[in-house]
Amino acid sequence: MISMQGKRGLVMGVANERSIAWGIARALDAAGAQLAFTYQGEQLKKRVQPLVAGLGKGERLFEADVTDDASMDAAFAGLKETWGSIDFLVHAIAYSDKAEISGRFSDTTRGNFLNSLNISCYSFIDVARRAAEMMPEGGTILTLTYQGSQKVIPFYNVMGVAKAALESATRYLANDLGPQGIRVNALSPGPMRTLAGAAVGGARRTFKHTETNAPLRANATLEAVGGTAVWLCSGAGCCTTGEVVHIDGGYHIIGMPQPEALPK
Ligand code: NAD
Repeated sequence: MISMQGKRGLVMGVANERSIAWGIARALDAAGAQLAFTYQGEQLKKRVQPLVAGLGKGERLFEADVTDDASMDAAFAGLKETWGSIDFLVHAIAYSDKAEISGRFSDTTRGNFLNSLNISCYSFIDVARRAAEMMPEGGTILTLTYQGSQKVIPFYNVMGVAKAALESATRYLANDLGPQGIRVNALSPGPMRTLAGAAVGGARRTFKHTETNAPLRANATLEAVGGTAVWLCSGAGCCTTGEVVHIDGGYHIIGMPQPEALPK
């Protein structure tokens, strides 16, 4: 098993026990890492605090809304005061108005476009810069993307555009931060049953379709995403940067439905 003993990092985006960020946190914790967390607001603090308390390694908790510079300044100042430096950061944050991820992409409003891109993409650039300032010895920065960035997934709509921008930002950040020994990668799980996942129109059908047609005939699990995050955050992933790493049972390589899924 890969050891993350002596490593410290920040996990952003836990909303509940089904959050991808929580799956990643559990895996990093099991590998020995010490974790700090951010939560979006008081409402979510009630859910996140008991989860984090169960880890029992002196975890830290900070409020952070990525659309609010003052809140981000306070969270990172608190983290710096507590630990001085970190070794990794996980960004598992995205948002679109639910009404615009169930209809036609061409109906995307300017307001939701800007808000979705701000929360789902710009926030990653912002946190990567803040995290890099706390990584004097190098480190790893991860974000979460989805294949709807590259191919049309019905109803994913503006989130697909946001994820395309996020994957591009991952490459630009990897190039900027590489000379400091900081690796920047995106994990791309297939559909998962989370709050954000369930908000996308047709979520159940997408989940079933992916499971039926992926080469491994399986969907991603929190454990699979967590294991991949541990690999990338550890020395084992030391020469990988600017990548989009799929954790989707291989679904993204498929060009048409499997024979058993086609009409007879
Ligand atoms: P989730 O709902 O558990 O997590 C989304 C998180 O984003 C929440 O913790 C929420 O508080 C946070 N967030 C939203 N707006 C914020 C803001 N203004 N400030 C701070 N935090 C904010 O759902 P999830 O599926 O675990 O999503 C995590 C990431 O994984 C997202 O980037 C999502 O797009 C990505 N992803 C999800 C799936 C899926 O099918 N669920 C697949 C691939 C990628």
